[in-house]
Amino acid sequence: MVKQLPFMTMREIFRRFHQAEPEPKGELEHVNAYTLVVAVALSAQATDAGVNKATRALFQIADTPDKMLALGEAGLVEHIKTIGLFRQKAKNVIKLSRILVEDYGGEVPNSRAALQSLPGVGRKTANVVLNMWWHYPAQAVDTHIFRVGNRSGIAPGKDVVAVERAIEDNVPADYALHAHHWLILHGRYICVARKPKCGACIIRDLCLFEEKTL
Ligand code: SF4
Repeated sequence: MVKQLPFMTMREIFRRFHQAEPEPKGELEHVNAYTLVVAVALSAQATDAGVNKATRALFQIADTPDKMLALGEAGLVEHIKTIGLFRQKAKNVIKLSRILVEDYGGEVPNSRAALQSLPGVGRKTANVVLNMWWHYPAQAVDTHIFRVGNRSGIAPGKDVVAVERAIEDNVPADYALHAHHWLILHGRYICVARKPKCGACIIRDLCLFEEKTL
């Protein structure tokens, strides 16, 4: 495993990410906090593009927990059946919608513990929602961030929690809010899984990965 990059290198990396894209945005479409929770829950083991394709029509008719319950599980399945694990995800969305109505007045709670108590919402989903909706510097580590963190030395760790902690501990505080999106977009489009595009990488000279491509 590569070593953790030192502070001044981390500063320079995030200065470059910021210069290249000052306001990075997530790619999951949503219209409010509730639809963000649903979109993130649906995105497990699926692409954002695939989820967006399904949710565009869904959120036009069900953008609140009440409306989702009115649509019902069978109606929801019809909208999301192009997404992997759709049956289990539909069950979870209906259950979490019922809990939001009964326990939270139809609102989405903004604590990690409350979010994680919802069916189908794990630590990663909770962190995405806290970051994207409440602008809290939570770090949701997915497969892209795990790969970038470990290859480059930005956030090495043997599992997602270790990588999450490495980001929290080592990313300069003024870059922490957007770190999640910079890293996810970098992993999705540049530091890709099979053959990273090191020739197009703006942190190539700082990255510790030993098998850089030309
Ligand atoms: S230089 Fe290559 S391995 Fe390192 S972060 Fe950039 S794309 Fe990834």
